[in-house]
Amino acid sequence: MLDAWTELGRLPLTRLMFKRIGIKTPPQLLRAFRPWSDDLLHGKQVLMNAAGPYSADLKKALGAQKGLVTFVKDESLNVGESKGALTRIAAYQGTVFDSTAFQNVAELDQLFKFFQSHLKQLGFNHRVVILIKEWPGAAAPEARACARAVEGFVRSLAKELGAKGTVVNAVQVPEHPESAQRLAPIVSFLLSDHCTFVTGQILRLSTLAELAELPPLAGSLAGKRALVTGAAQGIGYAICRRLADEGVHVIGVDRPQNRQALRELASNVDGEALEADLSLESDLLSLVDRLQNSPAPLDILINNAGITRDRSLFAMEKAQWDSVLQINLKAPLQLTHQLLHRGLLANGGRVICLSSIVALAGNYGQTNYGTAKAGLIGLIEGLSTHLARQGISCNAVAPGFIETPMTAQIPFVAKQFARRLATLGQGGLPDDVAEMVCFLASPSSQGINGSVLRVCGGHILGS
Ligand code: NAD
Repeated sequence: MLDAWTELGRLPLTRLMFKRIGIKTPPQLLRAFRPWSDDLLHGKQVLMNAAGPYSADLKKALGAQKGLVTFVKDESLNVGESKGALTRIAAYQGTVFDSTAFQNVAELDQLFKFFQSHLKQLGFNHRVVILIKEWPGAAAPEARACARAVEGFVRSLAKELGAKGTVVNAVQVPEHPESAQRLAPIVSFLLSDHCTFVTGQILRLSTLAELAELPPLAGSLAGKRALVTGAAQGIGYAICRRLADEGVHVIGVDRPQNRQALRELASNVDGEALEADLSLESDLLSLVDRLQNSPAPLDILINNAGITRDRSLFAMEKAQWDSVLQINLKAPLQLTHQLLHRGLLANGGRVICLSSIVALAGNYGQTNYGTAKAGLIGLIEGLSTHLARQGISCNAVAPGFIETPMTAQIPFVAKQFARRLATLGQGGLPDDVAEMVCFLASPSSQGINGSVLRVCGGHILGS
């Protein structure tokens, strides 16, 4: 559900009234709301610069996803003025620009030429992906300056295009023989309608775990087993539904207080519902005991359960500090440890923790929450190195403002501020986070490991 203010702004009369008094209506965002299909790009037309080292490989891979890729030759970068199909830029729903060959600052002009010439003609909800080289520490300072400069370009362009619902993201690509193979499924996902409310982000391509054979995304999760904590409502509920759409057997865990919602979830997604209060060590251990009796190990662990108890540190009671650290950090740490220790997470598995942009930026009244959520990032960073040999990847998702029962408690004015501080001018939906989690749970995400992925609509908080 979108917030009432955004809904009102979509009605013709109120839209006009809002415009008169200078209130902007946030753009309507394009969302897939369907399982993955063989043609993830669904006939999307993608414009790409031809000169990049990864361009040819990507063209082939995106073509296999039924994306229609048009190369822009470097000598005709001014695409708005060229003849034929290229003049109908509005027909293009995606743009990929490979800047990984940039080594001197003069080459940055190519960004200006390529994008400036057709920006005005871009339609709504366009997806832009820019590839940036990840240079080793000993690389020439000018080459590293170029890569950083492109990051700045990505973040600023995301701000400029957000009003149209257009998102701009980048992937940092290290020099590695397998980079192209790991990159292609990630770029496809970023260009697809399954990736919404993600903008201004720089993802780092990881080569940590050995490259595994890659099945097509559609159907790749069928028959897998996932444990999702905090499954009864909000983001956890959306994750369970989305995983179940992909054929995953979902085991949802929540507090006994949410018994009814949990049971409904289990019948809706044809999964299992287990009651456990993760603030109690006894409950956590008996949950793991029950999992030990399962017919097969888990493939996916989603540490999603979380709470807030906001107060300035000055006024915070010890119980508020304790409960937030227990549920948001200690329980995920202990649950993950127990599952790994008892061999209940399969090789090639996925661990995904729900962090927050507060972990990256801090927030007044949330020292407890910020501490716990940042701790989760350290946890996945540490685990990703330890578990790489088993092919288990570990990532964190950091949502911004998402419309859930948790954020419904925030006072009205503060809520409006939180929504409007995002480049996309609105709160995200639990489904937006669920889509990202689901992709990270898939084999196609093997190039993302030990990372934090923000699903925040380009929120102003944090880096
Ligand atoms: P929510 O409050 O709507 O749902 C959280 C779920 O966790 C509930 O079902 C709750 O019963 C469960 N839970 C809480 N304590 C538990 C315990 N002791 N044992 C078992 N289950 C417990 O929250 P949400 O908005 O869906 O958030 C999901 C996750 O995403 C949380 O970790 C939250 O911190 C994080 N997050 C949310 C937002 C947002 O804007 N909604 C932003 C950043 C991060």
